[in-house]
Amino acid sequence: MRIGIYPGSFDPITNGHMDILKRAAALFDKVILLLAVNPSKKSTFSVEERLKMMKEAVKDMPNVEVDFTSGFTVNYAKKVGSSHIIRGLRAVTDFEYEFQLAAANKFVDSDVDMVFLMAGQTTSFISSSMINELHKNGADISPLVPPSVVEAYSHL
Ligand code: ADP
Repeated sequence: MRIGIYPGSFDPITNGHMDILKRAAALFDKVILLLAVNPSKKSTFSVEERLKMMKEAVKDMPNVEVDFTSGFTVNYAKKVGSSHIIRGLRAVTDFEYEFQLAAANKFVDSDVDMVFLMAGQTTSFISSSMINELHKNGADISPLVPPSVVEAYSHL
């Protein structure tokens, strides 16, 4: 079975993430949407809140599972028998970071490979921090995020 891991902070999950996830789910037998917890990064939502939103967003996707790790994604991938890590690319600015990350991952485990999918035309401007800014300024974020995220913001 071909397993792909799609890691990220998902703080919160957006329709940009969902676009990459749907396309990845068509490429792999199973995709694990992995909350890669970085304790030193300040977050808007707790790990539990983020997982809840992610699980709700993928509930109709039969070959997608949600999990989390506080360690390296490459180590998680090895543990579950995957050698493919999926990432999305929005702009040149993403490329620099992703290029470094790919090299670091290869350094830790040379068997692992990164799979990059280009952001969709209509979702490429979406980022979690952009959603936060829009929400703070009273914009309607519902066209840009799954319903579970709109719900979570209403409790913030
Ligand atoms: P991280 O902190 O690991 O970058 P993010 O949750 O910000 O976590 O992003 C996870 C992955 O999804 C990254 O590869 C990022 O480039 C990608 N991504 C984020 N937003 C979009 C989008 N709108 N379109 C395509 N890919 C995206």
